[in-house]
Amino acid sequence: KPRVTVVGGGLAGSECAWQLARRGVPVTLREMKPVKRSPAHKSDQLAELVCSNSMRSDNPESAIGLLHAELRAVGSLILGTADTHRVPAGDALAVDREKFSDGVTQAVREHPLVQVVPGEVEALPEEGLVVVATGPLTSEALTRELERHVGQKLYFYDSIAPIVSGDSIDMEIAFRQSRYGKGEGDDYLNLPMNREEYYRFIAEVKAGQKLTPHAFEEPKYFEGCLPIEVMAERGDDTLAFGPMKPVGLMDPRTGQSPHAVVQLRMEDRAGTSWNMVGFQTRLTWGEQKRIFTTCIPGLQNAEFLRMGQIHRNTFIDSPRLLDKDLSLKAERRLFFAGQITGVEGYVESTACGYLVALAAYARLTGGEFVPPPATTAMGSLYRHVTGEAHPPDYPHQPSNVIFGLFPPLPGRVKKADKRARYSARAQEEFAAWLPSVAVPQSLQRSA
Ligand code: FAD
Repeated sequence: KPRVTVVGGGLAGSECAWQLARRGVPVTLREMKPVKRSPAHKSDQLAELVCSNSMRSDNPESAIGLLHAELRAVGSLILGTADTHRVPAGDALAVDREKFSDGVTQAVREHPLVQVVPGEVEALPEEGLVVVATGPLTSEALTRELERHVGQKLYFYDSIAPIVSGDSIDMEIAFRQSRYGKGEGDDYLNLPMNREEYYRFIAEVKAGQKLTPHAFEEPKYFEGCLPIEVMAERGDDTLAFGPMKPVGLMDPRTGQSPHAVVQLRMEDRAGTSWNMVGFQTRLTWGEQKRIFTTCIPGLQNAEFLRMGQIHRNTFIDSPRLLDKDLSLKAERRLFFAGQITGVEGYVESTACGYLVALAAYARLTGGEFVPPPATTAMGSLYRHVTGEAHPPDYPHQPSNVIFGLFPPLPGRVKKADKRARYSARAQEEFAAWLPSVAVPQSLQRSA
């Protein structure tokens, strides 16, 4: 089979290279370490965990735990190695990071079909299938090169707003309305605030504990997506004239325009989860929960599916740029895998690397790439990257795997039963898909 070049030997690139090799495809894995390192990478090994040593909850009734189970089922190198080097951490899957990276490096390097070539890739190979898996801190030269291929600037920062589960919002307080009745007229949920509530909220945001950026993340925010605390510091009324402006909105219960509003935009087509528009923030997760539930009317019982975050992150506008097999529409020999596609996290990037290996293998063998069912953790991540999980024109922002990306459960389900139901449905449909991605029998000995 023709050789595939994988650029970047992180979580996604290592998984992708190894999965291709075990299917009999020769791979060149080009990793810039140890010749050059990103500001966050420290070791010389592949699959380095740059921050926490935790791969988060292993409980299959959480979306991430479900993703662990799916990756185990497909024989993931990363998950298998994590299991081997697991350290006690309650229900989380945490690893001895050095032994974990050593284990992955050894498996990849020792595979007879993988050749690891060190050094920064500044220009993509001109021929053959290429998988770009250079992660959130893709080197600068390659970022420029990728911009040339994709035909637009890459995103350089995440500005992630929190997501709230729809059934935890107090609908006695929230009202559905678009500014000036635009669009469908009720595309947004609005949480109205009076003067007193608004200024109390601003005071809390200013005083709240924030995360300090890493040294290489010197704050260079776009004016269009400033963190709420930066806006609050500019002046107590800045947010009321910005994302919290009440213009064009009328609270049907009072017949008046509120002093300020928190607007929530539908996150999935079914409206089961809602994005707090313009609420990107570096407040710590604990502070976000405390301030939002105590200061924003209607969120007193909010269940947060994702918290607000901001960090440096290179990623592409995947829903518009990538085809269904995660190759670039404009240049189909280029595939994208891992965090650069807009998935977020070690395990999510691994899953994306695995899916791209399936897609590239299908391309090489003339087979069909069959994505995992939408109801599974992998399938929902895939639908996030392709945009199918979101309303049309939804602005692409990186996401962890969360139940908010899953298609809603049919019928009315009690809140306490939801996780178990998502999990049971995913496990059943994943089991039905699994045989279609088995490594061919004839190759299993070398795998
Ligand atoms: P990476 O794992 O970053 O791998 C990319 C690889 O490409 C690297 O080895 C890099 O050296 C290489 N590379 C880059 N440019 C080139 C080039 N031009 N040529 C050749 N090679 C190149 N996720 C979590 O789940 N938990 C956390 O606690 C966490 N903390 C994080 C903290 C920081 C500071 C950052 C930046 C990210 C954090 N993440 C965390 C996100 C996590 O790092 C990513 O989700 C994951 O590593 C992405 O996997 P990847 O394979 O896409 O990229």
